[in-house]
This record gives sequence, C-alpha cells and structure tokens, in this order.
Amino acid sequence: MKLWTEESNWIDTLPNPPLYSSLDENISCDVLVIGGGMGGALVAHELTTRGRDVVLVEKRHIASGSSSASTGLIQYASDKSLTSCMHSFGEQAGLRFYKLCQEAVIQLGSICRDLAIDPQFIPRKSLYFASCEEDVPQLREDYAQLKRHGFDVRFLESDDIASTFSFRKPAAILSGGDAEVNPLRLTWAIVQSAAVKGLRVYQETAIRRHHATSDHIMVYTQDERTIKASYVVFATGYETQEIKVNPNTVLESTYVIATQPLDDFSGWLERCLIWETARPYLYLRKTTDNRIVAGGLDEGTNIEAERDSKLPHKIIRLLQEVQKLFPHIPQLRAEYGWAATFGRTHDGLPLIGPQKGFPRCHFLMGYGGNGTVYSMIGAQIIADLIEHGSNPDAHLFRIDRPHRSVKRS
Ligand SMILES: Cc1cc2nc3c(=O)[nH]c(=O)nc-3n(C[C@H](O)[C@H](O)[C@H](O)COP(=O)(O)OP(=O)(O)OC[C@H]3O[C@@H](n4cnc5c(N)ncnc54)[C@H](O)[C@@H]3O)c2cc1C
Repeated sequence: MKLWTEESNWIDTLPNPPLYSSLDENISCDVLVIGGGMGGALVAHELTTRGRDVVLVEKRHIASGSSSASTGLIQYASDKSLTSCMHSFGEQAGLRFYKLCQEAVIQLGSICRDLAIDPQFIPRKSLYFASCEEDVPQLREDYAQLKRHGFDVRFLESDDIASTFSFRKPAAILSGGDAEVNPLRLTWAIVQSAAVKGLRVYQETAIRRHHATSDHIMVYTQDERTIKASYVVFATGYETQEIKVNPNTVLESTYVIATQPLDDFSGWLERCLIWETARPYLYLRKTTDNRIVAGGLDEGTNIEAERDSKLPHKIIRLLQEVQKLFPHIPQLRAEYGWAATFGRTHDGLPLIGPQKGFPRCHFLMGYGGNGTVYSMIGAQIIADLIEHGSNPDAHLFRIDRPHRSVKRS
C-alpha cells in the first residue's frame, strides 16, 4: 500500500536520523514488534521499559508510514464526542474512553521529557468551533457533559471568539490538556530511547509469513531469515488490512498543507489547536518553525491514483480555508502538500488486542484522528496482556467486538 504521496514538512526536521541495519541472521527474542511507526515505537518502548527482550522490525524506515504524514495534534477529545460515545457504548464505557485518552496525553508528555531527540511536544489548548448555527445545541450539550466530568473546558459565545481570534464562529469549546508534537521526530526519538534500553531495531526488514507452535512463534523475513519469539505484536498501521480485513474499519483519503514560516500570529489564541464540528472537519495547528499545518477535505475513496489526482486542487482549497480564518496573513502559500490514506473505525474506537486465527499475536490498530493517543493506550494494554494476561480496559477495544456501520458523529 502506498500510504502517502509527497513528503510532509516533518521529513526535513530530522536530516540525520539514527542508523539501523537490516536483519541478516536468524535471531530469537521474547517479543517481536512488526512496524516502526508510532504504534510500534510506543509498544516496543513500553515492553523494553518493563524489562522484556524486544525486537522491532520495519520494512521501510522508522516513521516512514502514516506516522510521517500525521499532523501531530495530540488531543483527548475523539472524532466522536463524549456525548456520542456515552450513547453508543454506555455512560461508563464512553467516559472511560475519554479518561483513557486524557491519561494517554499526559503519559505521552512524560515520555517526551526523557527523549534525547527533541520531539517538539508542547502542551496546547484546543478550540473546537461550531461550523454552523445548527451545530450549537449539540456543542452546548458536549460542553456540559465534559464539564460535568471534570474536563478543563470553557464555552465561548460568538462574541468571545470574535474578540480573541481573527474569525467569528457561532460558538466553540476551548479546552486545556492537549498538545502538539512533531510526529516524525517523536517516533524516531521513542525508538532511539528504547534502543538505549536494549531494544534491537532492524529497518528494511519485511515480515512475509509466520506460524505459531504451542510454545513460540516463528516469523520469516523477505530474505527467509527467521525470528523466533514468544509473542508478536502487529503494529503495521493501515497495511494490517492486507493481513486480515476488519469489517469495522474504513480506509479513506485525506489532505494536508504546511505553509511557509510566518511571523504574524495575531488572531490565534496561544497557538492553540483548531478544529470544528463539521464532518469531515478542517483542523489546524502551528509548528515550532512557525508554519501553519492544516488538514481535512477527506474523500471516501481508498484508490491511490484517485486520491493523488485530487491533491493539487485540495492544496488550493486548504489554503483558501486557512486564509478565510486568517485574512490578515499576506501571501499565504503551501510549501508542502500531501495526500494520505487515513483509517478509522465505524464505531469510533481503535482496535487493540488478540484476534482469532493468530495465536500468540496482538494487534495495535490506532485507527482514527487521534491515532497517537490510541497508540499510547494500545501500547499499555498490549504490554499488560503479554505480561499479566489481562488489562481492565482491553474489552473496550476488542478486535472482534460487534459494531454497526455508522457515519462519523
Ligand atoms: C494525514 C494524516 C494526519 C493525521 N493526523 C493525526 C494527528 O494530528 N494526530 C494523531 O494522533 N494522529 C493523526 N493521524 C493518525 C496517525 O498518523 C496514525 O494513527 C499513526 O501514525 C499510526 O501509526 P502506526 O504505527 O499505527 O502506523 P504507521 O506509521 O503506518 O506504521 C506502521 C509501519 O509498519 C510497517 N510495516 C507494515 N507492514 C510491515 C511488514 N510486513 N513488515 C515490516 N514492517 C511493516 C510500515 O512500513 C509502517 O512504517 C493522522 C494520519 C494521517 C494519514
């Protein structure tokens, strides 16, 4: 699968990443993690930190999959509102999901404090605005629900928004507790940190097949090298659907631009993350080198040629959307623009844990707009499942859970 087209702005922010070779011998380990994206990095880091003997293999290079296409918004609020999660999964489960996401943002922040490569993790507020008047009653209800359950939120009326930002919207929720990050640097940094603690890392090493016995699993690379492991974690991103299709998943196309570095930040409160109630939604952030990164305009197609042919037009449209919000910025232009495959689930929760037909294996599919946060949750759940055989929240994300095909809400 070609996960994205045209490089993101992040690629230029780490010109000399650490070097890891490909696998050229037969080895064994306790846990093999397949996939060197955000998910694989976090689960390998968690297991290594817990003292397990872990190997990570990546068929391309570290952070060269969807993780390098990410826009790096680290938010606890899901694409599916808290109210909607409570309706779908029950009050307790919906709230637990939000609390887990909130904790995961904090955990990511604390991991980031100890990394040798600076992942540019910066705590940020989020502005979630109503895209139209009709969305305001639902937004008020979401705000009340978040407030009732102790989240740091403030409701902004239209005049409050207009007096703080360079645009007016019908209403918004301003929340604390989120962050921005450079997703490419973060992935490399976590892998490097785990490697210092004993993780063995192999790039350009593709896994082709595996078979499990009663006490181990044997995995074969493209060169027929073998890795004997007690457990395998598939952190293979959207390409996991090529191994086994999950009927709860949807693969679509999405688009992103990064502007030139800017020096005028007026009309943008504290460089907060910005997104909206429309689906698909427009979302924006700033980078440490003062670019605006904006994404959205998703398309239902998963055909790469179709996705990529729309990129030039999407770049123009995204620029227009940014310009509408910040009309005072002169000569705004896109220095980067990329198209990417984007995966989500019908029910709005990621897919984490074992699945039928794959003994001794766990899967980490952090599908959805908050894939980094979901990967953090998944890393802990999978580490617990391997270490203790259970985790109190694992049932929420079970891969074989029943679901209905519903539109994003
Ligand atoms: C445009 C875009 C914007 C996004 N914005 C955000 C955002 O703002 N915030 C957020 O939290 N999330 C965001 N996401 C989601 C986020 O990028 C993903 O959830 C996350 O990066 C996925 O990480 P991953 O490790 O699961 O997948 P990947 O990064 O794709 O890593 C999987 C790796 O597995 C490797 N692999 C696959 N098969 C094999 C094999 N057989 N052998 C060896 N290696 C293999 C691949 O090469 C790949 O490197 C965004 C996604 C996109 C596309």
